[in-house]
Amino acid sequence: MNLTIIGTGYVGLTTGTCFAEVGHHVTCVDNNPEKIETLLAGRIPIYEPGLEELVKKNVAAGRLKFTTSTADGVKSGDVVFIAVPTPPQPDGSVDLSFIEKVAREIAECLTPEIGYRVIVDKSTVPVKTGEKVAETVRRYAPQGVEFGVVSNPEFLREGCAVDDLLHPDRIVIGSNDDRALALMHKVYEPFVAPVLVTDINSAELIKHAANSFLALKISYINAVSAICEASGADVEKVAEGIGTDKRIGRQFLNAGLGYGGSCFPKDVKAFIAISESLGTPFGLLKEVERINGDQLERFLAKIREKLWVLREKKIALWGLAFKQNTDDVRESVAIRVAKKMIAEGATLIAWDPEAIETSKRFSGITEGIEYAPDMLSALDGADALVIATEWSHFANVDLTEIKKRLRTPLVFDGRNLLDPAAAAATGLEYHSVGRPAAG
Ligand code: NAD
Repeated sequence: MNLTIIGTGYVGLTTGTCFAEVGHHVTCVDNNPEKIETLLAGRIPIYEPGLEELVKKNVAAGRLKFTTSTADGVKSGDVVFIAVPTPPQPDGSVDLSFIEKVAREIAECLTPEIGYRVIVDKSTVPVKTGEKVAETVRRYAPQGVEFGVVSNPEFLREGCAVDDLLHPDRIVIGSNDDRALALMHKVYEPFVAPVLVTDINSAELIKHAANSFLALKISYINAVSAICEASGADVEKVAEGIGTDKRIGRQFLNAGLGYGGSCFPKDVKAFIAISESLGTPFGLLKEVERINGDQLERFLAKIREKLWVLREKKIALWGLAFKQNTDDVRESVAIRVAKKMIAEGATLIAWDPEAIETSKRFSGITEGIEYAPDMLSALDGADALVIATEWSHFANVDLTEIKKRLRTPLVFDGRNLLDPAAAAATGLEYHSVGRPAAG
């Protein structure tokens, strides 16, 4: 099939590439000319494991193209996906101006000669956005054009997006238009996954409800971790004991610094705003947010308690990305920790396997931070080590190197990566989340 993706960011580029990989002909559109030039030059603008090889392979096979022209995209794609940002507004509700603009742009490119087009929203949007997209396209398109609107939310996880897209747990397709549904079934025919067909409102709601539930699970175990710290229990054991119950599951029960990234914080806020706008406030989610904020503060309080004063302290920071296997620092909790420590006068020596460049460009941190050339040299002469992202590099470190290089052997592990007993045996004063100190 001929498919078009409008918005070639994390979601658009990986989705478009995976559609090409399964045999479709895909045109990826972006209105950022720098991004398209990078892609046309054979480079990819983000780090996502396995993506670069797939992009190169499918460009070479003639199945994947890049352009800044929405008109070309709408002309060539029978199905046009929208994958543009849906950022939060100051009050938490979703800024839908990118979606509205693309809907207008698509409408203006439609002609009766082009024929029927399916317009698919892949961005995460509030329930009832599909109705608005259909209204907008109808208003701005010339008389006589035919189109259908579909909601097809995306569930990929950054860091394993290629695998998630090629082998999804499920595919959700929401539409009230049989012609559009038939084409969507063809799009997803090459994928082996259950397809859930719903009305458009339910599909939109599924995405916000799913992400809010995952955030809730994280906050749940983080609240339990606070109780563990106060009582001397071990949150890892508790999580195992809870998570082996099949009804609950072990995933997303890792105590740590709380959730961050470009999706969970904004999607929880959005779901709160949506529920309020519909007159059915979702107070539980406000508590999820409160626990998430408190978790970071409790961790910073531990650092303050041990270092007493952060001013003039040199702190090694391992991790800048919002999670492992990505260079994405949007809403990263690691960046929030960094900003708070810098605000209190500390100087950071930071290292991350992939996110140093994105941190320099997008974190907003302009002073109080230096970037180390490698993981171990970040430690040299530092008063403490703070681990803020769950990269496997940190979990597999030689603990004696930490002891040897730090000025004082204080380690604050915000992701529970190291073994407390091994850390203590190496002579480290080790603090983690919800686990008793060893020794
Ligand atoms: P992104 O910022 O990485 O990419 C969006 C792209 O859209 C940018 O490259 C931007 O230049 C482009 N764009 C904006 N307006 C445009 C226009 N008028 N025409 C053409 N291109 C335009 O964002 P993302 O992370 O890919 O997220 C996109 C959507 O997918 C959001 O709604 C997000 O919530 C959702 N989502 C994201 C993830 C994730 O892990 N990142 C997962 C699932 C769903």
